[in-house]
Amino acid sequence: MSTNTDTKAAPLTVLGAGPAGLATGFYARRQGLGVRLFEAADAVGGNARTLQLGPFRYDTGAHRFHDKNPAVTADVTALLGDDLRRVDAPSQICWRGRRIDFPLAPYDLSRKLPLSLLTRIAWEQLSIPRASNDAAHFEEMALESYGPTLARLFLLNYTEKLWGTDANHLSPQVAGDRLEGLDLRTFLIEAFGGAKDKARHLDGSFYYPRHGYGQIAEATADALGREHIRTGARITRLSHDGTRIRRVTVNDAEPIGVETVVSTLPLTLVLHLLDPPPPDEMRSVAQSMRFRHLRLVVLGLDRARLTPNASLYFPEQSVPFTRLYEPKNRSPDMAPDSQTVVVLERPCHPKTEAWTQSNANLRHNALDLLMEQGLIDERKEVVAADHRAVPFAYPILDVGTEDKAERLTTYLQRFENLHLLGRSAQFTYTHVHNLYAQARTLTRHLAARPDLVG
Ligand SMILES: Cc1cc2nc3c(=O)[nH]c(=O)nc-3n(C[C@H](O)[C@H](O)[C@H](O)COP(=O)(O)OP(=O)(O)OC[C@H]3O[C@@H](n4cnc5c(N)ncnc54)[C@H](O)[C@@H]3O)c2cc1C
Repeated sequence: MSTNTDTKAAPLTVLGAGPAGLATGFYARRQGLGVRLFEAADAVGGNARTLQLGPFRYDTGAHRFHDKNPAVTADVTALLGDDLRRVDAPSQICWRGRRIDFPLAPYDLSRKLPLSLLTRIAWEQLSIPRASNDAAHFEEMALESYGPTLARLFLLNYTEKLWGTDANHLSPQVAGDRLEGLDLRTFLIEAFGGAKDKARHLDGSFYYPRHGYGQIAEATADALGREHIRTGARITRLSHDGTRIRRVTVNDAEPIGVETVVSTLPLTLVLHLLDPPPPDEMRSVAQSMRFRHLRLVVLGLDRARLTPNASLYFPEQSVPFTRLYEPKNRSPDMAPDSQTVVVLERPCHPKTEAWTQSNANLRHNALDLLMEQGLIDERKEVVAADHRAVPFAYPILDVGTEDKAERLTTYLQRFENLHLLGRSAQFTYTHVHNLYAQARTLTRHLAARPDLVG
């Protein structure tokens, strides 16, 4: 990739070329702004990339494109053309050897759960007051929304495994959109209502690019112009004068003057890179904020399909993985006709056994799971294997984290030319369509400034 380090030619400097950085670059160019991006990795796309293993393609974790912002959907559709396709693929929860539809559906549950549990669930649905919107933590929200039995069977255990934290320490925000519109009342309406009532929160229908989710990032990079993106360029210092970021240093070696900066780097990293450093108080706030990392086991299988599902979820604590997904169920182009590929996700805290265990052990666990669940008949069905680490997969939204993020962003507001945009950058559980929407708004705002239009 070529380098564009001339401040005058590129008054807007974007740190990171994941979805947030690329969207910023794309919309900035559309607004006529000069822009350059610095990305530490050797490829664009951040945590929303597609990778290749022989004839198989897979994403860095199960991704889907949510059609929630019409303007963004229109822009991404224009970028990908016919390659962006609507997918209808249901998901299921693997529970005690059974497969339960997810999102939970009363009719399906009535066929698959024992009568004793169903009676308890029905009683809870009738006797528990309607969920309020001011739950103090995720556990309270899940108990209020679903009742204790359903919440404990399928939600609390899964959530604790995903985030590595007790549910009563997690902010209700970790639910993201998953529980939207799914309170007990809705649940009952669905039990007796028609398909129309169901549509609001069903996530079995979504958009997905033909060649994998990373195609969105690749198409965005093409549209903004690859010559404006420098990969292999890790930002190692942010030099400032107290009110403005003056220089960014690339790979510990190359100080580059900057005008306006959009950082998509993890919020806590930005604090760490500041030169001079921020007060100890701010640094200790940053140190107390954690990210959940992810390890992936990728297995190419010598069979046409494993299941029809977009994802299979594993809520039980005895299973180390949270989710399995089969890319071919999102796009048939992700594997050859006669073979398929599956990806298992293992969330980890750094410096734990889960994070440091060997790839061979992790793969062994994955194969054990597939055999136990009756998903494959024998290990020799596996024709290819790969392993990936996805660091900074999820900002851990403990109760109180919002305040900490607010304190750090308020501190950083003293740098009048620094803007933060991104999932880790803003420390929120956000999604790609939101990042595109925010990038659109931010660049419009920047384009209104005469000093930036190139
Ligand atoms: C398992 C999983 C499933 C997901 N599923 C979905 C989904 O279905 N739909 C959806 O919309 N979203 C989904 N997401 C979220 C989505 O992947 C993120 O929202 C998105 O990747 C965040 O983009 P970003 O640009 O903010 O951050 P990132 O993707 O993390 O990109 C940040 C970039 O900054 C670079 N960088 C870091 N440090 C430096 C440095 N010092 N110098 C230069 N560059 C640096 C990184 O290499 C990276 O490329 C999922 C995420 C995960 C982990």
